[in-house]
Amino acid sequence: MRILLAEDDAAIADGICASLRQHNHAVDHATDGRLADAALRDHEYDLLVLDLGLPQLDGSEVLRRLRSRGAGLPVLVVTARDGLAERIRVLDLGADDYLVKPFALAEFEARVRALLRRSSTHGMPELKLGQLRLDLPGHRAWVGTTALELTAREFGLLEALARRADRVTSRAQLVEALCNWDEELTDNGLDIAIHRLRRKLEGSGTGVRTIRGLGYLLEESSGEATP
Ligand code: CA
Repeated sequence: MRILLAEDDAAIADGICASLRQHNHAVDHATDGRLADAALRDHEYDLLVLDLGLPQLDGSEVLRRLRSRGAGLPVLVVTARDGLAERIRVLDLGADDYLVKPFALAEFEARVRALLRRSSTHGMPELKLGQLRLDLPGHRAWVGTTALELTAREFGLLEALARRADRVTSRAQLVEALCNWDEELTDNGLDIAIHRLRRKLEGSGTGVRTIRGLGYLLEESSGEATP
């Protein structure tokens, strides 16, 4: 999943980034409110982790703008500001959850899991396509009862395709789903990841079809190799 962290405190941001990346998420880090606002307009995220006390543009304003554009991604607010009135204000602005600093990383991780589970699957922790089954929060996939051995990138690729099952996913959308700002995925790198994923899906009854000029489609197949 791709996550935006808007946090100006370097120590807190480092801890959060390390934790999210350890759980195989692609994380972008915005150090002020203006950067966060711009990133939210330019990219598609699965979750925003938002500090309220941000320079340039206050976190509340970032959130207000986000919701006024109709964006529905889940938002976890992390802030030093506490108190009932503040919590109510932030939830009313459209935050989905609220964590007061300092917090235990384990609690942060649990809340991220809960928000991602709710949003990515509408409450259902699994995606299914034919014999293929994906456990999204657990980053595991099976064909029937056989577990697939996938790298984090291959799982991300499969997830991005499976979430758009029946629709073509462009190369740009795949890169967007797989990478954060600090990473680059070359054309070659994407081709290699797709090639490896296809090999691992061989015989599963599900395949990745190339739609020339448009992108890729995950579909139930007859089991033949895809060119
Ligand atoms: Ca701050």
